Amino acid sequence: MVRRQLLQVTDRVLCVRLPGYLSCSYVVLYDDHVVCVDSGMDPDGGDMGWAMRQLDRPLEQIRSILVTHWHNDHCGGAARLRARTGATVYHHPAARPKLQRQDRARGPRRWLARLTPEVGMLGPIRALLDAAPPIALDEGREVREGDRLHHDFLVMETPGHDDAHLSFWFEPDRVLFTGDALAVAGDHVSYMSRWLTADVESARRSMLRCLGMDARALCPGHRHPLVDPDPAMLEAVAERTRHLARWPIYGC
Ligand SMILES: [Zn+2]
Ligand SMILES: [Zn+2]
Repeated sequence: MVRRQLLQVTDRVLCVRLPGYLSCSYVVLYDDHVVCVDSGMDPDGGDMGWAMRQLDRPLEQIRSILVTHWHNDHCGGAARLRARTGATVYHHPAARPKLQRQDRARGPRRWLARLTPEVGMLGPIRALLDAAPPIALDEGREVREGDRLHHDFLVMETPGHDDAHLSFWFEPDRVLFTGDALAVAGDHVSYMSRWLTADVESARRSMLRCLGMDARALCPGHRHPLVDPDPAMLEAVAERTRHLARWPIYGC
């Protein structure tokens, strides 16, 4: 059975966490609807479905899914959740071919992907090998830097980990959903590994931008959210990031 956790970030922001893969998606609660930031790994939408049951909210209240990037551990559930609820899926324009499975791997990579079972820890590996999430999204809405969603969310383009990467600033609670633009380890901000960083210079700029947002909580795609981060720690990490000669392989 899949283990899942629900962690409170603010009164109406919660983290849906899969301890087995240390991955985090989020729900933002409104009186009569819910906005998801990323959508869990389960291709059936089961992670967010579980969270909605815990919160005593009907699944149909999911009105929007804000996708940080196309990696399966972030948007695995998007296609089915959209099919079930009619939610609008918002994503970066360059993520479309991946989300709609028009840009799949060929040759040995695809062959290897077929041999990899789509269960547990291997699910995201298979999706990455196949260069697409397991189920194609039928329709999504493209968003760009500066767009506003549900009045409250500001779209930020934060490339580095992936070209088509977005972060979302939830202004009312001053919460920043960073996706994989940065990592959190314990009570401090850390780096996504160099192996998982497509473009280091973009990643540096994106991370500095996230660190400079004066967020009350940083909500990354992995490990756990960081509530009330220490400003001195944020400044120290920003200073290190500005001058970092080699991007760390192991993140911390
Ligand atoms: Zn990723
Ligand atoms: Zn990730």
